[in-house]
Amino acid sequence: MPTELLFRDDAYLKTATARVAAVRDGQVELDRTIFYPLGGGQPGDTGILVRENGERIAIVDTRKGETPGSVAHLVAAGSTLPETGESVSLEIDWPRRYAVMRLHTALHVMSCVVIAPVTGGNIAPDKARLDFDIDMTLLDAGKIEHGTNELIARGVATDSVWITDEELDARPELVKTMSVQPPRGAGRIRLLRIPDIDLQPCGGTHVANIAEIGGIRVVRIRNEGKRNKRVEIVLAG
Ligand SMILES: [Zn+2]
Repeated sequence: MPTELLFRDDAYLKTATARVAAVRDGQVELDRTIFYPLGGGQPGDTGILVRENGERIAIVDTRKGETPGSVAHLVAAGSTLPETGESVSLEIDWPRRYAVMRLHTALHVMSCVVIAPVTGGNIAPDKARLDFDIDMTLLDAGKIEHGTNELIARGVATDSVWITDEELDARPELVKTMSVQPPRGAGRIRLLRIPDIDLQPCGGTHVANIAEIGGIRVVRIRNEGKRNKRVEIVLAG
């Protein structure tokens, strides 16, 4: 059964209630969730499920489920499992997720400072990186940091826009990330828009205004192969 993705409409939901749809192999499926499942370079959320009797079940990771559109909440080994049909309260580890949202949105901004095809990327709660197909001599940590922070200082609001598969096919320049093709098949694709800065397909969670990023620091630039020049960043404060 597809899980209703509450974070899609509101990335700031820290708590919610849901009903247990299925339990199997230490994984809990819910009818709806605020837990983001690993994908697009963004890690799965962690947090807790609180049962009606008050019992707290730690969620150590979130993944896409076996059936299309479903989300699997992974419980800690040895913990008790809820019953199918039971209603539960959800709480995500918000400081961790918010750090991920800030870094994720920062990568969107940085991808508009380094003008090159993106060949990879990853986000962790404490750091994030993008890989570019570019000559190493064109990557200057100070310039990337300054350019990204200058855009962040514009403090513009982000939003989501939806386009059809056909509209995306007509605008291939929107797809900067060669390693992560936008999800297709549902007939429409979500884009993150940072007005006058960036517009690209993305299903992750982002901050509502890029001012929330604060600023970034480039901590490392490394040659990871012919088409992978890696730029790693952390939040400045
Ligand atoms: Zn994104």
